[in-house]
Amino acid sequence: KTPVTTIVGFVETLLDGAKESPEELDQFLEIISRQADRLAAIIDDLLTLSRLESAPLDEILDLSEQNLEEILESCFQICQARADEKHILLKFVCPASLHVYADRSLLTQAVVNLVDNAIKYSPENTTVVMRGHGTSNGVQITVTDNGPGIDERHLARLFERFYRVDKARSRKLGGTGLGLAIVKHIVSVHRGQVKVETSTGKGSTFIILLPPFRE
Ligand code: ADP
Repeated sequence: KTPVTTIVGFVETLLDGAKESPEELDQFLEIISRQADRLAAIIDDLLTLSRLESAPLDEILDLSEQNLEEILESCFQICQARADEKHILLKFVCPASLHVYADRSLLTQAVVNLVDNAIKYSPENTTVVMRGHGTSNGVQITVTDNGPGIDERHLARLFERFYRVDKARSRKLGGTGLGLAIVKHIVSVHRGQVKVETSTGKGSTFIILLPPFRE
């Protein structure tokens, strides 16, 4: 069932008479409102994906030299409230001098999506760390959590749109199933790579590798 089906169903039930009962009216409007939020999130994510796929790269990419620590700090600020709500300690570690050649807002969105997942799927009182470091083949950005990890059999399809390990859980947490597909696209328009190192019960590390910065 999509959010639209649910919204249409509950609106019809209300029009058929349920609106006369104040409790049902309240309860169903709650449901409709929640599903409308979900629908809005899915539409936003689909628009982001189609923009990344369809426009010529030089139209969507605003590439320039960026200080990675500043980008991680923005991600920290965007995600801090959500981490606090779950008593998750969010940290970032990055050499102050490390630079990447990237579209600042797209790269921020990719890292935020990873941190958002790390927070969503980890239990309370755990830690999520963003790290940046330079390597011989480029700049690595990693997001590590102490959450449930992901079983190996899901890994081949994890970055596909709408792929979820646990549908009910993702939905309850407000997931669209598009977060990792967006990360993969953003990384690929930067000519980089994304992968995950994880094992069940031991947490996950998502790794973005951006090509070396050329003057
Ligand atoms: P969603 O909106 O469902 O979070 P994503 O594309 O962001 O969609 O992620 C796909 C699936 O991968 C999620 O439904 C979840 O099952 C799994 N997942 C993603 N990140 C993590 C993580 N850090 N720990 C455990 N599972 C994760």
